Parts: sequence; structure tokens; C-alpha cells
Amino acid sequence: MTIALHGLGVSRGIAIGGVYIIESDQLDIHEYSIPKESIETEIQRFDKAVTSARQQLRAIRNHIPVTTDADIAAFIDTHLLMLEDSSLTHEPARLIRELSCNAEWALKLQRDALVSVFDEMDDAYLRTRKDDVDYVVNRIQRILSNQTSLHHEEPDNLLTGYIVLANDLTPADTVLMQHKGITAFVTEYGGPTSHTAILARSLGIPAIVGLQHALQYIHEEDLIILDGTRGIVLVDPDKQSLAHYRKLQNEEKIHYTALGRLKGKPTVTLDGIPIELQANIELPRDFDTVIEVGAAGVGLYRTEFLYMNRDSPPDEEEHYQTYTRVIEILNGLPLTIRTLDLGADKQVDGGRQTGPIASNPALGLRAVRLCLKEPSLFRPQLRAIIRASVHGPVRVLIPMLSNTHELGQVLQIIAEIKAELDNQDIPYDHHLPLGAMIEVPAAAVCADIFASSLDFLSIGTNDLIQYTMAIDRVNDEVNYLYDPLHPAVLRLIHITLQAGKKANIPVAMCGEMAGETQHTRLLLGLGLREFSVHPAALLEVKQIINNSELAPLTILAQKALNARNSIEVAEIMATANIQS
Ligand code: PEP
Ligand code: MG
Repeated sequence: MTIALHGLGVSRGIAIGGVYIIESDQLDIHEYSIPKESIETEIQRFDKAVTSARQQLRAIRNHIPVTTDADIAAFIDTHLLMLEDSSLTHEPARLIRELSCNAEWALKLQRDALVSVFDEMDDAYLRTRKDDVDYVVNRIQRILSNQTSLHHEEPDNLLTGYIVLANDLTPADTVLMQHKGITAFVTEYGGPTSHTAILARSLGIPAIVGLQHALQYIHEEDLIILDGTRGIVLVDPDKQSLAHYRKLQNEEKIHYTALGRLKGKPTVTLDGIPIELQANIELPRDFDTVIEVGAAGVGLYRTEFLYMNRDSPPDEEEHYQTYTRVIEILNGLPLTIRTLDLGADKQVDGGRQTGPIASNPALGLRAVRLCLKEPSLFRPQLRAIIRASVHGPVRVLIPMLSNTHELGQVLQIIAEIKAELDNQDIPYDHHLPLGAMIEVPAAAVCADIFASSLDFLSIGTNDLIQYTMAIDRVNDEVNYLYDPLHPAVLRLIHITLQAGKKANIPVAMCGEMAGETQHTRLLLGLGLREFSVHPAALLEVKQIINNSELAPLTILAQKALNARNSIEVAEIMATANIQS
């Protein structure tokens, strides 16, 4: 009998195959005391385990095929770097000495302390860094307890054609398994922004996470259909289901081949209106993908990643070198650099160790608020961006502005920097455009005021929705209220777009909503002409834009603005979204 199970589809695509189960490697860690005279030996045992963990990871790193996406090697590099970090290498040794406890227990205590810092973080991406800590710690723990061999670290090709089922998977496991030929995976735990989910998307492996109790219903060698797009697993499918999904698989193949053909094509609606379709980027190495998918530029470069996993913030020269390199890669394509958006919760970054963690970090000292309070963070970055602007088309984007006083302060600092550069005969683009993220409702409502002193605006829907709906964007319990189609959100977007139009300045959107294809036509109808999306979503958004006619969408969007709730909005837009 066929059973259907539902989880969270995090990487699309359909896979049909036999199941290979990876047993959980959960370890029971117990505390025991170490006599004073054996403390140094215990510390040596710990140090040796760390060294072995490094050797194992380097071996995995060397297994990654050269053709694999650079991000994947980067995950392993992150873990290798963590194995060099004193919080994981020296701190447990100190605890062994101080508490006279065993190495496993000291490592567990240190892991718990680190994870609690990550748990407090406001940023979903950063919170997933806790997975990295767990991964590295588990590896050392396994070595300490002599469980050096992972069940799936077995000969190559063992997993060819299989769909892997596991309690949870680490990014490194995912890389190894892809190397061994798996076609898809499903896990009982995990969320859409975990590194494993990001990797699955990047590797193009269909994947479902959060399928609770999957191990209870699915057994080794069962034949299953995994639909990563819809988050469905069919166990022991009947003939009709198999035929249906094989047909879908074929259609998907045709769809992706067709998408690839859009790469060099312009982004333009059926009625001939050109649309600017740019990409959102986090790490300098992501810039190659911008070129690969044929983005028209970078609409959002999140620079906070330059501050992570290090003891001190980057200085002006490091910023300058980074931006100059990126501008070179982009080779004439526009680059929008967002200034630092760290929050009060992210105290560990860039060597900043100031003050207690705020109880409402999302409403605290983050982004431009923090930058204005700490000019030593802000000025070097701004100076570097302004200097780099001489090498190519750059725009500066300020996050989280909420009033004109903040904007005035930013303008003042920029004017001072430009005067300094003029005095020192350092060249820069004298017309360097300055823009604001519109992501606080106050800024959206007063977008006309901001528009009058700026060169462009960019709508950050991730925060705009968070602040409009009064929901913490990383709190699972209120996630159900995260609603891009709420009429309040649509009206704020509309107000911002209208303000840009009136002031004759461009308005982009760089929040996740811009890359969600079910909203593309609504956004076009509302008047959005600049999208900045995750590179993986870019071609699909382009396909929808190129198959849309603006005139009818404008009428539908006006109706949507008068809807009473998001269900009515979806109903209004349903007819438009039927066209492919
Ligand atoms: C946003 O808030 O929509 C945005 C793009 O910025 P971030 O997700 O980095 O806060
Ligand atoms: Mg934001």
C-alpha cells in the first residue's frame, strides 16, 4: 500500500529510488572526574582528538571534486577554521583543568555555551552556524569515544542511485554523499535555512527536511518517490503514481533546459517594458554565480559577512581590496554595496564584545543605528566604498533608516569623507549614488521624504514584513503571520514605489519576496521595475517577467491593494498567475 508523507521541500526536483538509511550517530556523553595527576594526559587526549578531526576533515576536503561549487568547499573550510579557533581548542582544555573533568564533558560544556550564543541571534542564517559547531564537536566527540568511522564513510559508489534517509545530515555528509552518487535525501529534522538545505539547493539534489517520524514509516531498500518541490514522499508507490512522477520528472528536465536558454536574454515584459533583474550576494566568491546566471548586476551585497569568524573588524584597506576585487569580477555590471547590518545580538562578530545582549535585538541597536553609534565601524567601510567607486559602477545602500536625522548624519559623514579624499587627491566617483533600504514601516510611510534626498530606494521585505506584522522573523512560533500578501505590506510597497516614481528615482526590491515567483506578477503590477533576487531564483523570475503583460497586471494590483486580506489578494492574482 502506498503511504504519502509530508515534510518541508527545501530543494526542488523529483527522485525515484531505493532508500539507504543512515543511522543516527548520537553519542551519550557522561561526566567523570579525572585525578589531578592525570589532567595533563587528559588534555593531551583532547588535543590529539582535535588533530585527528583536522586530518579527517582535510581528507574530506580533498575528496570534493574540483567541479563542485566553491560554496561547498567553503563549508568544510569553515569547519577546519573552527578547529583552529581557541574557543573549541583551548577552552575545553581549560575546563578539563578547572573542573578536573573528562575531555568529552569539557567539550560538551563548551559546545552548550557556544550554541546558546547562536540561539540568541536574530539572523536565521547566523543561527544555522550552530549546526557547524555541532558538526565539529560531534566529530571530535566521536574520535574521543573511538567511533571514528561514520556509517556512510564507505567505499565510493556504494550509494549510487539511492535516496538517503537520515535523522539529520551535516553539510560535509551531504557533500560526501553527493560524491557517492545519491539522487536525493530526506531528513527528520532541519529547516529551510540550514546549511544542509542551502547545500542541497546548490548541489541540485532534491531534498526534504523536517519529515518527522520518517524513520518509522520508511525502511531500508523501500522504493520511494521524493518530490522536493512539494515536500512529498510516496512510500511503495503504485504503478499510476510511478508513471505520473516519471512524467513530471521529464517535464522538469525540459523546464530547466528551457530556463538555461534565458541566460543571455534580456528581461523584458511582453509589452516591451525592460525590467532590471539583479542578484543578492553574501560572499565575495558568490560573485561568479552572478555572471553565470546573467544577472544585470548586484542589487544587494550584504557586507556583514566580512565581519564574521574573526577577532577584529576589517580595516579600510581590507574593505577597499575586497570591493575592488568584486568590481573587477563584475566587469562593468552595477554593484550595490549595503553598509554593515550587524545587530545588537551579534556581539561575537568582528571582535566586538560590547554590552549585554538586548532582549529585543530586532528592535535594538542594529544596522545604521549601530554604525552611527560606532563611527569606527562605519567610517572605514564608507571610505573604502567611496574609494572603490572609481573602479566601476557602485551604489551605497544604507540599511534600517527610520528618520531623516539618521539620514542627515549619514550624509554628513559621507561629505566629510569626500572632503578628506579631495584633500588627499584620492579619486572617487563624485556622482556615487546613495540609497536607503526601506524596511522599517516608518520609512515606507515617509518614503517621499527619503526619496527627496536620495538617489534610489530598495525595499527590504524581510524586515518590512517583520516590523509591519510585529513578528520576529526568526521565531518559529509566529512564522505563520509572516505574510507578504497582507494588504498592509502591499500598501507600504505601493507607497514606496509611488514615492520613487514621483521623485524620479529608481526603487528596487531586494527582500526574499522579490525572488518568490508566485509574487512576481503582483510586484510588476504594483510598479516594481527592479528586482534583486537570490541567483538560484533569477532565471525563473526572468521567465515569469518575460511571459507577463503589464497593463492587465496593473489593474489587478490596484484591486489587490483594496483587498481585505491576503486570501483575497491571492484570489485576485490567481488568474494572472495561471499564465506560465
Ligand atoms: C530585508 O530585510 O529584506 C533584506 C534584504 O535585508 P536582510 O534580509 O539582510 O535583513
Ligand atoms: Mg533587512
